[in-house]
Amino acid sequence: MKIYETHAHLDFPKYDKDRENMLNKCFQSGIEYINNIGVDRKSIVASFQLADKYPQIYATAGFHPHDAEKYEAELVEQYATHPKCVAIGEIGLDYYRNLSPRKIQKEVFAQQIEIAIKHNLPIVVHDREAHADTLEILEKYLPPKVVFHCFAGDEIMAQKIYAHGWKISFTGTITYKNSTQINVVRNCPLDAFFIETDSPYLTPVPFRGKRNNPANLRYIIEKIADLKKISPKEIAACAFRNSQKFFLEK
Ligand SMILES: [Zn+2]
Repeated sequence: MKIYETHAHLDFPKYDKDRENMLNKCFQSGIEYINNIGVDRKSIVASFQLADKYPQIYATAGFHPHDAEKYEAELVEQYATHPKCVAIGEIGLDYYRNLSPRKIQKEVFAQQIEIAIKHNLPIVVHDREAHADTLEILEKYLPPKVVFHCFAGDEIMAQKIYAHGWKISFTGTITYKNSTQINVVRNCPLDAFFIETDSPYLTPVPFRGKRNNPANLRYIIEKIADLKKISPKEIAACAFRNSQKFFLEK
């Protein structure tokens, strides 16, 4: 089973003690590619260092809405031209924690969408309790390649996303008892989804509460397979094909 981990933060200090060992275990267990996601200056630089070191790792450049006030356009522009840059992200709006003023979040989101369009790069979107504004800003620009990371919207929003040819991505939250995404998973077209762990966060059942890692994608694959009544092998293959086409083919 070839697996594409589309969203992880493996540069975070939680992996400092055993990063190499953890990554090797992932690669041995079928993880073929990993997108390491930048959220601020430190993590952007660290993500591209990982990408330079490991052929299987790609990276993204972007300022998370939490860090919108620290936005540095030149840094994102600089890494947008790196040969292993697969997207601008994660960028977007977070009205749950509101760590930056909403006005600045919106401006910084829009500016980074413009960079993605200029460099012909996909966009990895973070949207937490900001569905309407996130869609409104994206629909103003209509970039061709957009993925809603850890999709948390409803069926109506998902349909709007598919209609634009955009994608959604599932994390370990779909394995949780209180998941609101069960019908979204069931009804999602086979060419419209990716899988991700968002490591070190959102660890799937049965390891919920522990540090996450990309090898846990198998539990997300199994859950999607179970909900869609399709074999895990086929789910993994669809997600792999979708992500490879989206991130690695220009
Ligand atoms: Zn993330």
